[in-house]
Amino acid sequence: MDTKRALTNKIALVTGAGRGIGRAIAGRLAEDGAVVGVHYGHSEAAAVEVVAGIRRNGGRAFPVGAELGVAGDAAAVFEAFDAGVREEGVADDAGSLDILVNNAGVSGSGPVGEAVPEVFDRMIAVNAKAPFFLVQSALPRMRDGGRIVNVSSLASRRAFPESVGYAMSKGALDSMTLCLAKELGGRGITVNAVGPGFIETDMNARRRTTPQACAALAARSVFGRIGKPSDVADVVAFLVSDDARWITGQCIDVSGGTDL
Ligand code: NAP
Repeated sequence: MDTKRALTNKIALVTGAGRGIGRAIAGRLAEDGAVVGVHYGHSEAAAVEVVAGIRRNGGRAFPVGAELGVAGDAAAVFEAFDAGVREEGVADDAGSLDILVNNAGVSGSGPVGEAVPEVFDRMIAVNAKAPFFLVQSALPRMRDGGRIVNVSSLASRRAFPESVGYAMSKGALDSMTLCLAKELGGRGITVNAVGPGFIETDMNARRRTTPQACAALAARSVFGRIGKPSDVADVVAFLVSDDARWITGQCIDVSGGTDL
């Protein structure tokens, strides 16, 4: 199949798409033909640049700004998203959204002994609560046959005591994935999660400050390298395509065989 046309006439929203993994996902979905809402929280300039890059490549995208993890976040996201969709003129009576990728996330909660309630609350608010209420707001807009992909983490599947609050927030996302897959099957909507290992983004820059530290992270994958955002984006592109219509409720490991 020509993936460049796989998502023609589809409308996508990717959260946290100004940087890192979300940026790669937004670019790839646009390359595959989707009109992409490029959501950002604080990185407005970066998101505007992602939109400009997509347009330069002949794709269609618009920025969607709203902080997550605060009261009214889902409503603010969809207010901006609806405005972008209206401007693009792509919605029809069946809906205005086909693909929701819950990618935005924060890390760095620390081990249990160092846990701080405010940091824990924020982790849950951004990584689990926001995706849940984004799905709630997305569903009335979503056309049947839609796709929801949650960017989880290897941390929900392997013991990760150095960041237990983070791992717990991703475990919640995995549970949400399973429940919603069952509920939404009747509408032909699939709900899946991807679990990246170490991917080269700002999120883990503090773990890559020396060549030795980089080599140690790379050695945890059976392929002997740290993952790239495109390693995750390509799997998300598959999951949102028609080819993945029979996959739902799954948490797909995208870690390059980390810690096998
Ligand atoms: P990143 O480069 O730090 O990017 C994080 C993204 O999340 C940014 O686009 C940021 O947007 C957005 N975000 C964070 N807090 C937000 C908030 N309160 N409101 C709105 N947006 C917010 O990290 P990344 O590595 O690309 O992470 C993307 C996803 O992959 C996360 O869910 C992360 O947990 C997961 N993941 C990453 C790795 C890894 O090794 N990198 C491994 C496993 C899972 P703004 O800058 O606009 O605020």
